[in-house]
Amino acid sequence: KYTSGSPSLFTAYAYYPSTTNTNNNTDGIFYSSIRWGYGTHSELALDQDWASVGTHEVGHWINLRHTFENGCSFPGDYVDDTPPTTGGTIELAGCLNNDQSCSVSTNGENYMDYNHDCKKMFTQGQVDRMTAALSLPSRIMLWSQSNLQATGCALPPVSFVGLNATYCTTDTVVTLTGTPAGGTFSGTGITGNQFDPSGAGIGSHTITYSFTYPGGNTDSISLSVDVSVCTGIKEGHIISGLQVFPNPNSGLFMIEFNRTEIVNTELKITDILGQVVYRENLTHSSGKYKKQISLNKYRAGVYCLQLVTEQGVLTKKVIIE
Ligand SMILES: [Zn+2]
Repeated sequence: KYTSGSPSLFTAYAYYPSTTNTNNNTDGIFYSSIRWGYGTHSELALDQDWASVGTHEVGHWINLRHTFENGCSFPGDYVDDTPPTTGGTIELAGCLNNDQSCSVSTNGENYMDYNHDCKKMFTQGQVDRMTAALSLPSRIMLWSQSNLQATGCALPPVSFVGLNATYCTTDTVVTLTGTPAGGTFSGTGITGNQFDPSGAGIGSHTITYSFTYPGGNTDSISLSVDVSVCTGIKEGHIISGLQVFPNPNSGLFMIEFNRTEIVNTELKITDILGQVVYRENLTHSSGKYKKQISLNKYRAGVYCLQLVTEQGVLTKKVIIE
């Protein structure tokens, strides 16, 4: 806000951290244009450096008091390593730190003094106090990742979608979408942003999406995908209503199907490497089959249930978690 007259009513002021102020839109730093830079709007001469007053106000905004707060008395400015001093009106000659008003040399170069021509430093204690203040509820929005993302000032965390947990080798190529956009996919079966199950081949694969943030930090996320052989006869021809439930399961599940003709059927469950973990021969039988199978002792993963008949093989994926 422009304030006319000389001397001006104020140069600048700031609010200490306070959720009440923040919630009532009365938070912030206010700076008079007549003490900002040079030109027709400013009453400062070219050799007057008041720029440090801006730093002083930011100091207040993140909880620093003046070095002369409480004069020579405890607790002063609530910072241990700033020497006490009595007055804000003291203009130190030549930045010599020669004010002895509390019987010790003051720190006239401190940003939180009023000696604006000499300001050039904060103490470590002041830095610690400001750092702590940045975690206060009224200041944490300045840098918290969630708020930076909510206000469009930061990119969201790395993630990607479009990849199922399991595929058959016969499945077509799928397109993956990474967030934030512009990152790189890598892993077996990946070309650009596409995953090709047949290109990846049978087995478990890790697909990774990496993104480098503008600041230079690279983050990535990896998902695993299982590809298995799922060839077989068309369901409904001889065998219908093949069901596995629950699926996925913990190793204990029901198998149910119906045979419309008298056939020799071999029920076989194999792991991802083709190793048989369950086998049952259903010779010359027909009708409904329903049975509980336990594969509790086998590790989690994708298994292949096969119903082998003279007419072909019917296959279903069984996922043990
Ligand atoms: Zn001040």
